[in-house]
Formats: sequence, C-alpha cells, structure tokens
Amino acid sequence: MKLHILGAARQVTGSMFLLETGGHRLLIDCGLIQGPASEEARNRERFPFDPASLDAVVLTHAHLDHSGRLPLLVRAGFRGPVHTHPASADLAAILLQDAAMLAERDALLENRKRERKGQKPVEPLTTRREAEAVLKQFRSHEYQTASEILPGVLLTLHDAGHILGSAIVELELRDDRRTRRLVFSGDLGHRDAPILRDPTRLRKADLVVMESTYGDRRHRRWPDTVREMGEIFTEASEGGGNILIPTFAIGRAQELLYLFQQHVRDWGLDRWAIFLDSPMAIEATEVYTRHWRLHDEEAARRRRRNGNVFALPNLRLTRTAPQSMAINRIRSGAVILAGSGMCEGGRIRHHFKHNLWREQCHVVFTGFQAMGTLGRRLVDGARQVKLWGETIRVAARIHTVGGLSAHADRQELLDWYRAFRGNPPLVLVHGEPAAQTTLAAALAERFGIRARIPAEGEVIDLDNLGGELP
Ligand code: ZN
Repeated sequence: MKLHILGAARQVTGSMFLLETGGHRLLIDCGLIQGPASEEARNRERFPFDPASLDAVVLTHAHLDHSGRLPLLVRAGFRGPVHTHPASADLAAILLQDAAMLAERDALLENRKRERKGQKPVEPLTTRREAEAVLKQFRSHEYQTASEILPGVLLTLHDAGHILGSAIVELELRDDRRTRRLVFSGDLGHRDAPILRDPTRLRKADLVVMESTYGDRRHRRWPDTVREMGEIFTEASEGGGNILIPTFAIGRAQELLYLFQQHVRDWGLDRWAIFLDSPMAIEATEVYTRHWRLHDEEAARRRRRNGNVFALPNLRLTRTAPQSMAINRIRSGAVILAGSGMCEGGRIRHHFKHNLWREQCHVVFTGFQAMGTLGRRLVDGARQVKLWGETIRVAARIHTVGGLSAHADRQELLDWYRAFRGNPPLVLVHGEPAAQTTLAAALAERFGIRARIPAEGEVIDLDNLGGELP
C-alpha cells in the first residue's frame, strides 16, 4: 500500500493524492493549482499517472482546488466513478461548469490574438462537455454511511463543516497482508461558524492527512468578529460610500447573507441596498437552501421561525451583466457582494474600478487571500493596483475580518487531531510552508509527534508506518 502526494504539498491548492492498495488505484481529490500564471500553467501538465488506469476518485468537497482538474481526467481517459457527498455533487456542477465556461472564453480571446500573430491556437484548460461528462460519473454517499467502493476499500464520509457537503474521507483498506485506516481531513471548517455543523471528530486512524491552511493563525473570536462587522457598517454609513465585499460564491456568500438576516437591526442594514452580484453565488444559495437538512441546530431553528435563512427584504439578486453594471452608478449606500473571492476575476474588479479610489468606500475581506492575488496585495496594503492596464489608487478603507474563515485555525486543528487515539502518524498538506512549520512545532510540543511535511511527488509507504514517520 502506497500513498503518493501529488498536490497541495507545501502549498494551499492543487489537492491530489494517489492511493495504491491491493492492485487498485484510487485518487483522492483532483484539484486545480491556483495562483500566479506560472503556477497555473502546471494544470496543463500531464498527470503523473495514467488516468485510464484509475479505478475511482473520491472527492472531499466541491472547491476547485480540490475538484478543478476532474474534467482533465476524463479528457485523459478516466471513466470510473467519482465518489462524493450529494451536496458536493450539486456544488461541483456549478463550479466545474463555470470554470469550463471561463476557460473556453479565455481560450477564444487568446486564440483571436494568436491568429493575428500567426501562432498556433491553444485549447481551453477544460470544456463544458468534459465537465458534464465527469459530473455524470459522480456517485453520491451520505455522511456516516460506509460503502465498499472497491474490493477491500471501504469509504465513509464525515461532515467536515467547511462548505456544504464537505467531507472528511475515511478509508479502510484491506489487502492480503494488513488493514489500514486512513483519514483525509479535506478542508476542515471553523468551529461555531454559521449554518454548518462543526467538523466531525474521529478516533481511529493509522495515518492522518491533515490540512494546515491556517496552521499559524488564531482566528478572532466569534463575538469579536460580529462586533467588528457591525462597526464597519456603522462607520461606512456615516462616511456615505459603498461597501465592497469580495465573496467566494460558495460558502462565504451564504454565511454573509445568513449573518445579515440575523443582524439586520443591530448592524443598521435596513439603511443599505444589498446586492448579491454573482450568478454563481445565487445558484449556490439555492443549493444551500435545498440541503437544509445539513444545516446546524441554530440554522434549523431560524428556518422554523423565519423560513428562508438567506432572505432579506432589501436584497437584490443581480444575475445579468446590465443589472450588475447598473450598480456602478450608485455612489453611496450599496453593499456589494461579488466574486471572485481573491479578486483575480469576476465582477468585483469592475466594482473596484468605480470605488477603490474613493476614500468614503470600504472593502471588506472575509476570506483567505493566496499569495500573488489582487486580494492579497490589497490586504498587504498596496497603495495602487492595476486593472485592465489602468492604475487605480487605493483610497478606500481595507478591512480584514478574520473570524469568518471557512478553515479551522491552529487551535482547532490541534483539537481535531487530539481526538484521535494514540497520536497516529500525521502528514500535513494544504498549507504554505510558514503555516506548516508553525503547526508542526505546536504538534511536536503538545503530542510529541513529528508531523511529516511532504514535498510534491513524495511517496508514503503504508506498509511501514511506525509510531512516527521518518
Ligand atoms: Zn475548500
């Protein structure tokens, strides 16, 4: 039995792990590498295995850094099942189709330029047809239900509390010599976050592969986060500008709407016009509403009392481009939720063009901003940015509200690991090096273990797992 670390190694994106057991080959996640263009170019490289030889894929959750290369697997000949939670299947349908549509559009624009230059055309990274094909290969599994997906491979998904349908993947592997229980955390949610339940704690594992995105951070406490959001609204309503919230369409958009409904009075939200300016976020909100059974106790209570937990009287859903462009004329009193979350694309860039240089305006970051993204540059205090070749000065107030994260912080990661009996060997993935080394030091101090921080391409021999990994 072998585990190949093929992605999200010493970085946050590109999640991909290949498991070889009893003659079977199983892939866990097939995520997109996201970041600077030089890194993203790696998505076009050949897979370091033959996709046609894979027996199955298990998908932890729908985010593109976990699912985005699935259509490429199909292009390369994979025809097997993709096992995941039903809500992840619904959200992956939205995300993969959207990504493919953008990829096709980008290729079209690029090829027009190339044709003029007499260069060879490029292929889109993924196509809608391939996305559709892979979605047909999805097989749904509810949480806490073990299924034998291959002879000697038992799969159980557990709620990871990160986005709707997100799963911790537990695999019980049996070959003629031994049994091994592997647990992949996927992305773990933030305790007490709105809407979703807290990440499930497991007790048994022979090897744990854990994310470490926020391994070096402590999130702000929940009541502080709520107060901070409220203060931004108060301050902004006195200044008379707009509030821009770069929003991940899945998860963050729904959390914000949910919080807005909860705090409509104490945050003075009835004085604002709120725009959900993202067709994808609108669709994702419908999926969140449909899967209300996955919501936590508090959301269930609110649903019984208020009906739809995402509805607001002054919320406008802007689907079309003309509707979105009409928002540009508003100088004051608009709260604009738009993608993309890290500001690398999407409608938020248009809103930046119209608001970033105005000191009455506010930009509120509520999610992780990866290195090299426009969002990260703003958070790091850039005084000016470039949009479509034009230099825009940054005069708007930039806020970072940390507590809304969809990821567990260092303490929560330590607590999640602590639940396992006997301190099983631990592999850290899905984190930037600084976060990983800080977390590894904390793990060594608390539990006396040496967590492994593998580089891409490293292989972990599951037949020789000591108490501690080499
Ligand atoms: Zn995620």
